[in-house]
Amino acid sequence: MFSLLGKTALVTGATGGIGCAVVKTLHAAGATVIATGRTAESLEDFKNQFTDGKDRILTLPCDLANLDSIEEFAKKALELANNKIDILVNNAGLTKDTLMMRMSDDMWQDVIDVNLTANFKLTKALLGSMMKNRYGRIISIASIVATMGNAGQVNYAASKGGLISMSKSLAVEVASRGITVNTIAPGFIQTAMTDVLSDEIKENLKNQIPAKVLGTPQDVANAVLFLASDEAAYITGQTLHVNGGMLRV
Ligand code: NAP
Repeated sequence: MFSLLGKTALVTGATGGIGCAVVKTLHAAGATVIATGRTAESLEDFKNQFTDGKDRILTLPCDLANLDSIEEFAKKALELANNKIDILVNNAGLTKDTLMMRMSDDMWQDVIDVNLTANFKLTKALLGSMMKNRYGRIISIASIVATMGNAGQVNYAASKGGLISMSKSLAVEVASRGITVNTIAPGFIQTAMTDVLSDEIKENLKNQIPAKVLGTPQDVANAVLFLASDEAAYITGQTLHVNGGMLRV
């Protein structure tokens, strides 16, 4: 079940907590994975973690904040994959949190650029080849806060809400071409992104989660694997919530 043999996936933010688990999980299911992150050095270190099947891990750096570079990056990725990228995981993301009254225009724009506009540009650049191949799995990592809202995150919540709405609309456009488009909305997952929260906030969060623990990157990677698989062919335009029961929608 869930074999990705012969498939090629591109995963952004591969050097981060969730991205790393996603790459390892898709790779273990047989896929060739193009792992992307900001720097060639961090990607080299990342690749060195692999012993078996290292030849199925390809690396390509890209700073997604540089929106003008994304089209060229997508071309290079397609060359690397012989024009066949079957699975795109839009995972890279960042937060720049503060209350709206204190949020600068730059804090707003930086988050919208990487979390939303970069995903629009990358998805658009890879869509043509998926349409030609009549196959595609586009999975974007959104967030629980897109549905729930969260003080201090108007920029982040707006970017993730935009990602969900963009994905639903694209799902309608490309369903007849064998391409599915879905989002995953993680709750609070143990990674560098949540490590910055104080112990008090983390305890507070755990009390709101019926499962009483934060999620792991692997919990999210398992959901990505499912949506990337042939078994999920009839699931499109959906948001899969991975949150230990914190929000029930
Ligand atoms: P993380 O450990 O901080 O990883 C973030 C990844 O995004 C890193 O690989 C980082 O690359 C990459 N990235 C950031 N800015 C970039 C840019 N300008 N260009 C290219 N790559 C960039 O965070 P994470 O928790 O794994 O988050 C992964 C995704 O899950 C994000 O979209 C996040 O919003 C979402 N999410 C996380 C949680 C959570 O609780 N952790 C909950 C809901 C949703 P570098 O290594 O180069 O910095």
